[in-house]
Parts: sequence; C-alpha cells; structure tokens
Amino acid sequence: TYALEINDLKKVYSGGVEALRGIDLKVEEGDFYALLGPNGAGKSTTIGIVTSLINKTSGNVKVFGYDMDTQLMQAKLQIGLVPQEFNFSPFETVQQIVVNQAGYYGVSRKEALERSEKYLKQSDLWEKKNVQARMLSGGMKRRLMISRALMHEPSLLILDEPTAGVDIELRREMWTFLKELNDNGTTIILTTHYLEEAEMLCRNIGIIQKGQLIEDTSMKSLLAKL
Ligand code: ADP
Ligand code: ADP
Repeated sequence: TYALEINDLKKVYSGGVEALRGIDLKVEEGDFYALLGPNGAGKSTTIGIVTSLINKTSGNVKVFGYDMDTQLMQAKLQIGLVPQEFNFSPFETVQQIVVNQAGYYGVSRKEALERSEKYLKQSDLWEKKNVQARMLSGGMKRRLMISRALMHEPSLLILDEPTAGVDIELRREMWTFLKELNDNGTTIILTTHYLEEAEMLCRNIGIIQKGQLIEDTSMKSLLAKL
C-alpha cells in the first residue's frame, strides 16, 4: 500500500476556477515527497482535499489504503497536518496546546501527557512547556505546530509551505528537524515553491502547474535533467 494514492483528482471551485484538472499521484511509505509549484498551481487545494478540509469535485484519494470516501475516520487518523498559518490559541501554554490536540483524537489524558513530553523534547520545546504560545519565537512556533500535529502519532505528516516567510537560518534548523523525523519512519509530504528546499530534503518530487502534475519523479533524476 501507498502512504498516499490520488487518482484523477479534480476540483472546480464554486466560482468556476478549475483548481485541479485530474491529478494522479502515489507517495510510498517512508518517502519524503515535495509538491512543488508556483502560487495558484493547486498545492493547497490538493492538501486541503487530502486532509478533508476541502471537498473534491471528483476522483479518489486513499491514505495508507483507506479510501477517503468510505473509510474517512481511519484515513484521517493516519494524517498529521501542519498548516501554513499559526492557528493555535496564543494564550494557551505550549503543553496545553499539544495535550488538547491529542484529546480531539481520543487519546487519554495520561497518554497525552506522556506524549507531550516526548514530542516537546524532540522539538526542543520542553523547557517552554508552561509558556504561553504568544511568547515563543517564530521558529519555536513552527516547531510547536509540528509537535501538535504528531500528538496522535500519524503515519503521514503533511506540511503546507512550512518555511514560507522564514529566514534562512531558521529554515535550515527546520530542515534538520524534518529530516530526523523522516529518518525515524514518518512519511512526509510538503508543499513548497522553493526548489532548493525540495532539493535539500526530498527523495521524490511532484511538480504541479495550473492544476496538473507535469512531473513526478525522483529528486535525483529531476536534477540530472536541469
Ligand atoms: P497553491 O496552493 O498552489 O498556491 P491553490 O490550491 O491555493 O494553489 O489555488 C489553486 C487555484 O484555485 C487558484 O487559481 C486559486 O485562486 C483558486 N482557489 C483557491 N481557493 C479557492 C476558493 N476557495 N474559491 C475559488 N477559487 C479558489
Ligand atoms: P490557501 O493558503 O489555502 O491557498 P488563501 O490564503 O489563498 O488560502 O485564501 C484564503 C481564503 O480565500 C480561503 O478560504 C480560500 O479558500 C479563499 N480563496 C483563495 N483563493 C480564492 C479565489 N481565487 N477565489 C475565492 N476564494 C479564494
């Protein structure tokens, strides 16, 4: 089974914009996959459909073999999403944010507390556990978003433009962190419009343009062609 399998996915927004014109995509378990494309290409729409935040027009999506039409709950449990914008409550503490997230997924409080220690330590935020989120630096906020997405222990982590607007030093720090996560077995898909970011991190790459996947290949063979 694939971590993600997308067949002939189409999306027409209500105003008539054809955002996706038949995407076919397979991401293998353990992969680090980049979805690269310019603004407006359809990256967020694709991610939105896979995370069930946006309704598709037609096509089929499977997450670790679970069909999103018929096994939505199981499919959703496999996925951790790191959205582009910070969307946690600024007045909650770091630990409250991650523990509450686990609660939404039915994880017991005891287990959630244990996991919060594991994932906050992993992202170097454990000393900040009692600090309100608004007090964190930009890099810490990004890592908090990732820790939160890991609390239900998803097999697939999806990051939407994780380093958009992030300075180069912080970007490198995030790259190291994401690489480690992938080395530890989490399948990762990220969207980006930086080829450099894809090149640094990803094993495989899909290039999306005007709602179509115009390239789907290994990073190596893409670079050989350029
Ligand atoms: P990307 O993430 O690659 O920048 P998007 O998936 O956000 O691209 O957008 C793909 C296309 O769909 C763009 O033309 C965008 O303007 C359009 N679009 C995105 N969201 C909506 C929406 N809610 N309603 C109408 N059109 C939308
Ligand atoms: P995203 O980061 O998901 O691409 P945007 O920041 O582009 O979202 O858009 C913010 C909001 O506006 C979202 O609700 C999105 O669906 C909507 N939107 C984006 N593009 C369009 C569009 N071309 N027409 C109408 N709504 C849009």
